[in-house]
Amino acid sequence: MSRTNSATYDTRWRRLRNQHLSLKPLCVVCEQAGQLTVAQCVDHITPVAVASHRRLDPTNLRSLCSSHHAVITQHFKHTGINEMPI
Ligand SMILES: [Zn+2]
Repeated sequence: MSRTNSATYDTRWRRLRNQHLSLKPLCVVCEQAGQLTVAQCVDHITPVAVASHRRLDPTNLRSLCSSHHAVITQHFKHTGINEMPI
């Protein structure tokens, strides 16, 4: 992806994000804990800050509820690990 047209990127991201949420509507972290929570966020498993070329990679996405997204984002900021704190 050599072109950095932000309008194109936004459209492609929105489409990918919506597609992901329709395929995987539940928060993956809640699901692992046996809870069914509708996801509001699509998170990059490998963060864009680490691998910008994977920002539109469908295999690099996971659905998260807003609270788990916030926890994981904070954990990444502090530790560089984009996972739930153990
Ligand atoms: Zn959750």
